Amino acid sequence: MNNILSNLHCHSTYSDGENTLEEMIQAAIDLGLESIGISDHAYAPYDLVCCIPQEKMEPYHRELNSLKEQYQDRIAVYAGVEVDAFYLYDKADWDYVIGSVHYLKGRSGYHTIEATPAQFEQAAEELGGYRAVAEAYGETLVKLALEYRPHILGHLDILTRLVRQGQVPLDTQASWYREMWQEIIRSIAQSGCLVEVNTSAIYRGQSPEPFPSVEILKMLQERKVPLVLNSDAHQKQNLIAAFSQAGELLRAVGYTTVKVLRPQGFVDVAL
Ligand SMILES: [Zn+2]
Ligand SMILES: [Zn+2]
Repeated sequence: MNNILSNLHCHSTYSDGENTLEEMIQAAIDLGLESIGISDHAYAPYDLVCCIPQEKMEPYHRELNSLKEQYQDRIAVYAGVEVDAFYLYDKADWDYVIGSVHYLKGRSGYHTIEATPAQFEQAAEELGGYRAVAEAYGETLVKLALEYRPHILGHLDILTRLVRQGQVPLDTQASWYREMWQEIIRSIAQSGCLVEVNTSAIYRGQSPEPFPSVEILKMLQERKVPLVLNSDAHQKQNLIAAFSQAGELLRAVGYTTVKVLRPQGFVDVAL
């Protein structure tokens, strides 16, 4: 059973999603959700494949705001954006912003650490190994949390997407790795950011655990960091995919509520 009838992490055809804004909103209504937030990848010059093209940023913002009004009697629509850590936007222009680390900066440019093993390897080669990649990821995430303070930090340990599938040999059981996350979470707790529990790894069959892992969720729970449950839907059928499994894992580590966005702001809702 699951009480969370909202998802703030959705992509449309403006970026790398498969459905239009209106199809996503209609699917959310059909599911009986109380709200949907669209958070397409904001334009970044080093990612011309997944992001909204620069000239479409304004039309995206405009269309989303007009759909919000058009659908207000049927569902609450929130206008958001997912920004990458190296290309930030003014938070005041959006109902909420998801801040995510998708790339690391190497000698030859930006390398994504969640798409292909070859790109991860390239980052490892330029940064000085797998541990250096994880540490650079952690530093980028902490800087994003403390300096930019997005409303929500997206898919916290996405750097393990390929690791969990056995495609990259990063040792996430090593003590340095756990200690690194303890430090990261201390900073995140100070930042006031909400942390996303992203179910995409579960429903894509990549892992039985969401991003972040259960181990990191326990660290977040010890520091009482509030969470938001999101699916990172790139298709309308995944709007609340794996929400019940994730809800069970959250209850098992001691969470009883997550935050849901309402007109008055983020409020606690029982899991
Ligand atoms: Zn993302
Ligand atoms: Zn996303």
